[in-house]
Amino acid sequence: MTRHTVFFLFVALMAVVPLFAPEFTVTLLNYIGLYALVAIGLVLLTGVGGLTSFGQAAFVGLGAYTTAWLTTNAASLPSWIAWLGSSAWFGLVAGLLLTASAAVLLGSMTLKLSGHYLPLGTIAWGISLYFLFGNMELLGGFTGMSGIPPIVVFGHAVESGREIYYLIWAFLLAAIVTTNNLLDSREGRVIRALRGGRVMAESMGASTSASRMVIFVLAALHAAAAGWLYAHMQRFLNPTPFSLHTGIEYLFMAVVGGAGYVWGALLGASVISIAKQWLQDWLPMLIGQAGNFEVIVFGIVMIVVLQRARDGLWPALASRIPIKARPRAVRADVAPLSHKPVPPRGELLLELKNVTRRFGGLVAVNQMNLQVRSGEIVALIGPNGAGKSTTFNLLSGVDDPTEGEVIFRGRQVAGREAREIAALGMSRSFQHVKLLPTMSVLENVVIGAHKRENPGLFAGVLAGAWRLDRKMEARLLAEAARQIERVGLGEQMHLQAGSLPLGKQRILEVARALAADPCLLLLDEPAAGLRYKEKEALAELLRKLRADGLSILLVEHDMDFVMGLVDRVYVMDFGQKIAEGLPHEVQANPKVLEAYLGGLE
Ligand code: ADP
Ligand code: MG
Repeated sequence: MTRHTVFFLFVALMAVVPLFAPEFTVTLLNYIGLYALVAIGLVLLTGVGGLTSFGQAAFVGLGAYTTAWLTTNAASLPSWIAWLGSSAWFGLVAGLLLTASAAVLLGSMTLKLSGHYLPLGTIAWGISLYFLFGNMELLGGFTGMSGIPPIVVFGHAVESGREIYYLIWAFLLAAIVTTNNLLDSREGRVIRALRGGRVMAESMGASTSASRMVIFVLAALHAAAAGWLYAHMQRFLNPTPFSLHTGIEYLFMAVVGGAGYVWGALLGASVISIAKQWLQDWLPMLIGQAGNFEVIVFGIVMIVVLQRARDGLWPALASRIPIKARPRAVRADVAPLSHKPVPPRGELLLELKNVTRRFGGLVAVNQMNLQVRSGEIVALIGPNGAGKSTTFNLLSGVDDPTEGEVIFRGRQVAGREAREIAALGMSRSFQHVKLLPTMSVLENVVIGAHKRENPGLFAGVLAGAWRLDRKMEARLLAEAARQIERVGLGEQMHLQAGSLPLGKQRILEVARALAADPCLLLLDEPAAGLRYKEKEALAELLRKLRADGLSILLVEHDMDFVMGLVDRVYVMDFGQKIAEGLPHEVQANPKVLEAYLGGLE
């Protein structure tokens, strides 16, 4: 069966359930749908993006209270705003807009926090919003507000549980489909790189802080939509369902279901809701005492899941669904991406003038000077700890020089962001390969081409979610495929990047760098850890790229690899340049010999 067949079978099943299921089941499914909608936001935010939020319940409340207040106060409001209360649908739009604004505000304050400070920040505003709902007189305080009208669809008031079921599940299925689409788009690849691949994505020209904001706002919007449905389903609101406690439960659902998987949100919401129902019925009977014992059981289950199945329950279920996986189709009939002409051979591309970097008292790079001209391969060598990687980071924008100038293609770039420098035509690989191991080779390489198309953030997210970007996707994928063929990884194109041997992973990084259409390629220790044959293949590839007019600056530890390959060599030791020149000159230089032998290399 294909993915589409399974999806339509599922939709068909869900469509007929309320026709024969008892009222009780329909109500349970309504709640599952609402919870899953919130949990999908968390899959995006926490599971995929790595940002933990305990505060989603507050956004549910924001969506619910906005529509409740507008629709119950329509008669008494001034006319410029009263029309918003005339239909629940206006309440939805108002709730989403208000939530988006609040999320941008809260996000700009909390997303900068790192480590466990971010989750703490979400707890803080989760609690604040809850008390805001409870203490505002016009929202009915802790007693709540009633008389919320039903949603009207095509002139029909959606009043019964069976009717709103269809509305809830339509929202949920739309969220599942659009979230999957988004993750499979240009913006989605940056989102998937947020956890563990930020430096890489920035080096490919992507703005990861913008992507963090995008998923934060999207997660809040999913929660607000669930709140809107909830308000018009219950027709009554009080602050209880929007407390921190519920916020934690949402996170439970996402994690238990499988935090990185969109369908895991639905699975997690189902498992937790059904288990809660069941435990609430049975535990007090077993124990012979009333009380919220299910909370204790959930606590234990959560710990077991975190220890035993980090990926949650979804992967285990998904492997039982007979879906034939099909590799991404790469179309050959699309127009190629525009390509910048290579600068004329011999033109000065990159110049470091007296660059210094201090880490506290340690001078990692000391008054370094270096030049790279168009069409040459230049090596920067030296023993371990000499300052090579630091130099690399300084000239590529990952780190900033304490003093000195970095001039790339006539522009001063010292202190600029990595992604700005990347946009000028510098593209790099990493000493410790930075791949997204569960993504295919093709998907990894296409990240390199991120900046070759630029629809803008908002349009990109929207187009990605609704698959309006397929022409652009096809162009990007075709370009990635072209670079994969160019470096000789064609046969591995659809394999998981993490499954490749190290030599091939490094070549993948070269392909990814090439996809950015650079004029200067930076390679940090490309031969480290490679076997002899792999080194030869790599050297062969670099020669071929030079013949195509590309310039390459490589940091290398391995002298033998460098000697037969490069045009010029710079040697560093203890942060300083100790020699420069042609490979055989440098090799015979006594200072160089001493540095290498002295370091027992
Ligand atoms: P290489 O790449 O030549 O092996 P590095 O550039 O990684 O050397 O390191 C040069 C020196 O700077 C080393 O002594 C290293 O410990 C130090 N160093 C590198 N990065 C940092 C940092 N972020 N903070 C403090 N010291 C650092
Ligand atoms: Mg290094």
